[in-house]
Amino acid sequence: MYHDNFEVINVAASLRSSKALGPGNRAVLWVMGCNQRCRGCISPEWQSHEPVHWVNVKTLSQELLIDNPAVRGISISGGEPMLQSKSTTAMLRYARQYRDFDVLVYSGYTLDQLLVSSLPGVQDFLDEIDVLIDGPYRQELAVNGQLFGSSNQRIHFLSDRIKPQEITDWEHRLEIQVTEGQAMMVGIPDARHIAAFDSAIDRFHSQNSSQGISLSETHQEAE
Ligand code: SF4
Repeated sequence: MYHDNFEVINVAASLRSSKALGPGNRAVLWVMGCNQRCRGCISPEWQSHEPVHWVNVKTLSQELLIDNPAVRGISISGGEPMLQSKSTTAMLRYARQYRDFDVLVYSGYTLDQLLVSSLPGVQDFLDEIDVLIDGPYRQELAVNGQLFGSSNQRIHFLSDRIKPQEITDWEHRLEIQVTEGQAMMVGIPDARHIAAFDSAIDRFHSQNSSQGISLSETHQEAE
């Protein structure tokens, strides 16, 4: 399922800065919609193709990349980025007219599947990607402390903008980012991290409910 308005992206969430999803300081974009239905998916609410937040590709490009020189690149996850390939490619190509940056993408499809995919715009999107982390999340193969969630997933270097050593040297980290009343856990957590995060949110609510302060929560991850 994909939409045919290539001037907008159905956005689940975005951040202008994170160090939890790839080398260096990075913008992050999570898109809505995924058909994989992986058991143990940490963001099942983002599998839906329902329109959540349509954002114009030039606006996103400007906010996350062109007017954000502190980041060296962008990580794109979801949801399934390949289902919005045309508009995501348009966003990247627009920004690359103004500055250089690297692109790391998570997809639930394997690279082999993508290379023969007839989904609109996938081949152009692959041309813009520097590192692809591919394959669905498989709960029975879950790993900790990596840039991916399960051991079936592979890191593919599609250009030399990101060096293998930079991925090797990347230190696993999780971030809690609080924006507009929403606490987001960013990175690739294991079950203990998720339980600790959920319990911290519960504690926050029990301590602040009398003052009418609340935080909604979401776990933002890679695949
Ligand atoms: S883990 Fe990733 S690929 Fe799997 S259902 Fe969730 S969003 Fe889709």
